[in-house]
Amino acid sequence: MKDLLQKQRQFFATGQTKDLGFRIEQLQRLKQAILDRQEAIVAAVNADLNRPEFEAYFEIASISEINYALKHIKSWVKPKKVPTPIDQFPASAKIYPEPLGVVLIIGPWNYPFQLMISPLVGAIAAGNCAILKPSELAANTARVVTELVENTFDPAYIKSVEGGVETSQQLLAEKFDRIFFTGGTKIGKIVMEAAAKNLTPVTLELGGKSPCIVDTTVDIDRAAKRITWGKFINAGQTCIAPDYLLVDRRIKSDLLNNIKKYVGEFYGDDPSQSPDYARLISQRHFDRVAEFIGDGKVIVGGQTKPEERYIAPTVLDEVSWDAPVMEDEIFGPILPVLEYTDLNEAIDRINERPKPLALYLFSQDKQTQQQVLDRTSSGGVCLNDTVMHVGVTELPFGGVGDSGIGSYHGKASFDTFSHYKSVLKKGMWLDLDWRYAPYKGKVDLIKRVIGK
Ligand code: NAD
Repeated sequence: MKDLLQKQRQFFATGQTKDLGFRIEQLQRLKQAILDRQEAIVAAVNADLNRPEFEAYFEIASISEINYALKHIKSWVKPKKVPTPIDQFPASAKIYPEPLGVVLIIGPWNYPFQLMISPLVGAIAAGNCAILKPSELAANTARVVTELVENTFDPAYIKSVEGGVETSQQLLAEKFDRIFFTGGTKIGKIVMEAAAKNLTPVTLELGGKSPCIVDTTVDIDRAAKRITWGKFINAGQTCIAPDYLLVDRRIKSDLLNNIKKYVGEFYGDDPSQSPDYARLISQRHFDRVAEFIGDGKVIVGGQTKPEERYIAPTVLDEVSWDAPVMEDEIFGPILPVLEYTDLNEAIDRINERPKPLALYLFSQDKQTQQQVLDRTSSGGVCLNDTVMHVGVTELPFGGVGDSGIGSYHGKASFDTFSHYKSVLKKGMWLDLDWRYAPYKGKVDLIKRVIGK
């Protein structure tokens, strides 16, 4: 690790990565490398997660991040002039974005390709060297990431290091200029602790229990369709999947009937036979999630096939707030349903918990939308749909509180991997005497300037 880091530091010191032409060229190379490997990426994600081909193509979404960066990078790298106060005269002030140096990107297994590559786009655009550590649990995809990186970039510039927890810990023991981590809150704390030893800044893209509120003003059929999709893609293993439903008591049975209808329409009578339904990543995850089925009344699904790590799309009614399924992020295909009669009380319950990564509200009522926006805090919000906000490149994506620190996507990715250096340039042709000793007779002046 030390040797690798040393090589990257030397490469960074040459200044090559700062050159705009170099950055553009590397982004173009990365784009071509992904396009050339689309089938290999899809096959690897399918092998790791039994992900349907359609959903596996979500991994290629990093291309839109590259296109966006290529379109805007020339304006991003330009120093921005800012006004200077009169007492600085003669002077000009500018903010220069500069790369941080060598960054570490650690990824999870659930969207194992795009969650490595999308941050990398920001790291390259901002002019850094990078070491990637893909998740060992999605081993096939990790291989593809490594192969792509090896055949596209100089290892002194970008390198993928495969391995498990031990490898991650060895990397974390080194001093980087930023650590960008995507994973669970528990490991996020370990990463931040390790980073603190070297005073390394961190971006933590974590998870959480993202609530989904549904009131009486919406088209229930359409809301059910969008919730069913967002919850059960990738078998619920999506960081911004709606974790639990909070539904107005008056429309609960109608909504649940419609969710049941759409589970049938999407995946058929037996989802284990559907080519469009994924599996749990590992036996450990299967065991953890399957336990939750007993935490409520099964309205939809409930079947499991441990040998396949299959859990049917499952909806649980009559779940209590203190049931185990309501403790941590579920990260699997189980949707607990809680009902409310007073929206304010429902909001209070959300606010008693750690701040989630996403919050969903299905309501056509503008006042209700404003009330929920004003009274809750979450990484992001999507009104009248689920998951789709992640696809808007202009919206910074990240958590707050327990769901993360910092954000990325679009310009936010460039910002995350940049330091904004403030530079004041003074003119030498004039030197106003007001700040120099002796101060006799100048106190009134300083009082007037400072206290203005
Ligand atoms: P994880 O935290 O278990 O692992 C993530 C990475 O950390 C892996 O590369 C792993 O090797 C490494 N790691 C694991 N234990 C470690 C340790 N003790 N020390 C150092 N490194 C360690 O996460 P996961 O299970 O791969 O992913 C699921 C979690 O990620 C969920 O909570 C999900 O919500 C979250 N997630 C968040 C986002 C986001 O964008 N905010 C996206 C996807 C997933």
